Amino acid sequence: MLKRDEWLHLARKLDWNYSFVQEKDIFPEVISGHPWLPHAEWQDWDEAFKNSYREYVENQYEKDMSVFAVRDAVGRLEDIEKLNPAWVNGLKIHAAGLALAEFTGSIGNLRGARFGRDSAWRTMAGFGALDEFRHTQIPLLLYHQLVRWDPQFDWAHLFYHTNNWFAIAARHFFDELTLGQNAIEFHIATNFILETGFTNLQFVGLASLAHNANDRIFEKMVTSIQTDEARHAQIGHSVLTTVMKHDPEYAQYLVDKWFWRNWRLFSIITGTSMDYLTDLEQRPSSFKEFTEEWIIDQFLITLEEFGLKKPWYWDTFIDELDVYHHMVYASAYTYRSTLWFNCVLPGPAERKWLREKYPKYWNELDAVWERLAEQWRVVGPGEHNEAAVHATAMPTFCDLCQLPLSAGTPSRNAANVLDYNGSNYIFCSEPCRWIFLREPDRYANHQELVKRVLSGEAPASMSELVTDYFHLTPETWGKDAFAGRYSWLKEKSVPIV
Ligand code: MN
Ligand code: MN
Repeated sequence: MLKRDEWLHLARKLDWNYSFVQEKDIFPEVISGHPWLPHAEWQDWDEAFKNSYREYVENQYEKDMSVFAVRDAVGRLEDIEKLNPAWVNGLKIHAAGLALAEFTGSIGNLRGARFGRDSAWRTMAGFGALDEFRHTQIPLLLYHQLVRWDPQFDWAHLFYHTNNWFAIAARHFFDELTLGQNAIEFHIATNFILETGFTNLQFVGLASLAHNANDRIFEKMVTSIQTDEARHAQIGHSVLTTVMKHDPEYAQYLVDKWFWRNWRLFSIITGTSMDYLTDLEQRPSSFKEFTEEWIIDQFLITLEEFGLKKPWYWDTFIDELDVYHHMVYASAYTYRSTLWFNCVLPGPAERKWLREKYPKYWNELDAVWERLAEQWRVVGPGEHNEAAVHATAMPTFCDLCQLPLSAGTPSRNAANVLDYNGSNYIFCSEPCRWIFLREPDRYANHQELVKRVLSGEAPASMSELVTDYFHLTPETWGKDAFAGRYSWLKEKSVPIV
């Protein structure tokens, strides 16, 4: 029998010449991606981790068994019930936002497995598709038992099947990133930007918070998933090397576009979980500190290795680090009944910590929290007073990222308008406007929530919107996790300096 070294190179590089059809017909540019190059330009495509299918299956089996062992030991319902309520609500954001998004990663990888331009790339993408199935199945399996305890966990599966405003934004992102994407853009945007640039926030940062929060099963899940991501993320690096050689301007565009789009997603999902939905004593660092370490330090080194520049809007991004996810969390709290998880009102100790970590704009942000605290003081605690401490006006949404216009600061919103082909568009930020103008045909026809209301597709009343269009019920819509019962609220407000 042949030894592994004798046959693996034959199995992973299995390309041939076509006699009945043109290469361009088998790998059309519209689905294989730009730049279109003959196979000769891709034949040196190489991956760092060389795997056979047999090895792949054996490894994955071991990893699954070790996740199940942790689940059996510390992942039962009674273990989850002991977790801090704020943290449990962070889990609901992750379960809903990421489980089915991982499934879309399978579709993107399958596109690479068919339309990737070299056989080794296609084989690796096949493994990547199997990885992403696993990343869908593990959270759905682990969180399913929690549905009977807390129906908001049903949103792990339901979320992407609703027209909830955040689901519209998340679908807009993942439809473009994975489901409807050509192989080259998919692998650069997903492997290189999302998996190399951003997921360390989850896999290292959030895993360490999970450890502190005593959530061993979440920690185990994300670290197990990370071992797959580290392997298949390598596909993107090899694809980017060839694109850089033939069209560096396009490579830079993809980096600039996808860095911004990922920043929006991760600042919301990870930023709010780290800085608001983790117990104060369990936070080793702030979201900003994690971002500085894992994105600003690590990712910039990677960009330099490829000869890429940092995105043109870097100063805007750095400025947003101090404020964007705070604006988003304040909006989420104020509109919590439009979401599927509960929010926590930050108290004096949290606000003191946030002021230390985010001095730049905290004065303005703190005033928002003081106003909300004062509203609870006036009406008193209790579920029946939820509506009295809640916004009622319809927010406006960005025509690119589909998120509320929450960029800038409370006193200086960064929203800007555009007249394009006789229609009006509004953007939360300059980078969102810039992405729209680079590919208007791709984005101009998508309707954000307010346009859906105006066209009659979505109901105009806030309560009907929440129940009929967002699919929320009194059981599942978001509330204050403590219904305003905070011991510190009884004290008269004292300015925190
Ligand atoms: Mn994944
Ligand atoms: Mn992945």
